[in-house]
Amino acid sequence: MLNIAFIAHDRKKDEMVNFVTAYEPVFKEHKLYSTGTTGSRIMERTELTINRFMSGPLGGDQQIGAMVATNEMDLIIFLRDPLMAQPHEPDINALLRLCDVQGIPLATNIATAELLVKALQRGDFAWRELVHKYKPE
Ligand code: PGA
Repeated sequence: MLNIAFIAHDRKKDEMVNFVTAYEPVFKEHKLYSTGTTGSRIMERTELTINRFMSGPLGGDQQIGAMVATNEMDLIIFLRDPLMAQPHEPDINALLRLCDVQGIPLATNIATAELLVKALQRGDFAWRELVHKYKPE
């Protein structure tokens, strides 16, 4: 079981809900996290249980980032809005940076998200299970 996070900016939330709905059987095998509103929207349309953090502008990206920093987050689907300035741009950049620090798979658009979820179905993320198993105390 992996830890997976969903974040979608406002104009990407419908796309996220459709995506997660399509792959609900895959995601239900994992522990799911999200920023506040994204999680509510997904839970309205699926049977999934999602651990919701704060809304993105109020610190949700940072809370997910904290799990990345400690190498607990395994996969992030982050549908960003590339055409709209975000008030919490520094938080977003911090999260992306931490994913690169730890080498965490991160999709920022739906095409990459599809590829990652197909890899997840195939079991290509088994190496992340090992990260958890052999994590130093
Ligand atoms: P939200 O946060 O899911 O609470 O809307 C995402 C964001 O806009 O950063």
